[in-house]
Amino acid sequence: MSAPEEPVSGRFGPVGQCIYCRSDNVTLNIEHIIPYSLDGTLELLAASCDICTKATHAFEGHVAGQIFGDWRFQADFPSRRRTKRAATVDVNVISGRTSGEIPIDRQDYRAFVPIIRLERPNIFDRRSEPEEFIMHCDFAATKGLSAKDMGVDFVIRKGQINPSKFCRMLAKIAHGYAVLSLGIDGFDHLLTPMILKEGERIFWYVGGYPEIAPALNFAISDTIIHALLIWQKDSPDGESLVGVDIQLFANLRDVHPDVSGSGMPIYSVVVGNSNSLTGERFGSGFFYPKVSKRSGSTPRD
Ligand SMILES: [Zn+2]
Repeated sequence: MSAPEEPVSGRFGPVGQCIYCRSDNVTLNIEHIIPYSLDGTLELLAASCDICTKATHAFEGHVAGQIFGDWRFQADFPSRRRTKRAATVDVNVISGRTSGEIPIDRQDYRAFVPIIRLERPNIFDRRSEPEEFIMHCDFAATKGLSAKDMGVDFVIRKGQINPSKFCRMLAKIAHGYAVLSLGIDGFDHLLTPMILKEGERIFWYVGGYPEIAPALNFAISDTIIHALLIWQKDSPDGESLVGVDIQLFANLRDVHPDVSGSGMPIYSVVVGNSNSLTGERFGSGFFYPKVSKRSGSTPRD
């Protein structure tokens, strides 16, 4: 397992064409490599057209709302949110035969964080393509009041995990990070059709490391940290692949209460094939320069 090493943040670019459909004569938006709704702070300037932005927002909304929604309900992220959220929340509970709402302090809400571990991308193990997909899901609970502490039988939580949407989000993150690292022409893209439109073949390229990962030992603070690492590996057929390992919320520690220092899972995503430019661009930092946060929202050039 090649654990991502360090978090990155900042605005880079401009790319000057849509990193998904390659359009360049349209309005281009800032692309949050990790969704803003998950407190992503890594951005590509002039990198996503309106149509592709809309397509990626659809599954980002599922991940933020359905998968991590219970946690976001409690936690105050994005941390750059300007308006303070209400200090109390109404929790839906069931007690006996009655249901209702109980207001509690937000910090006392015991949120559930899904810990989704994935098997390696099918391309490496040649598992029956493309349908086979294995997901292991545990839940970590934040500090807070249990149903018993609140004197009720159950606390009602809403949410669901759509594996395809989750994997499309991982694909989007990995693709954007590969573009940042190597340039839009620095590898042959494999994932863009699956990012823009649902397809089962995504499990061929998107997976993870099923073992329990360590938490990132880096600047533990109140800030949410995501860690990324780009790699080159050969496929079983000898093709040179480019991929990205992703650890979301990488500084969350003791995720599995019985495993000291355990962290969130690490995902592994094959984003493309190496081309004639890949080798020279590897290991030389990001392809696009860092730009000031003040430099406009969507300039094309
Ligand atoms: Zn586009």
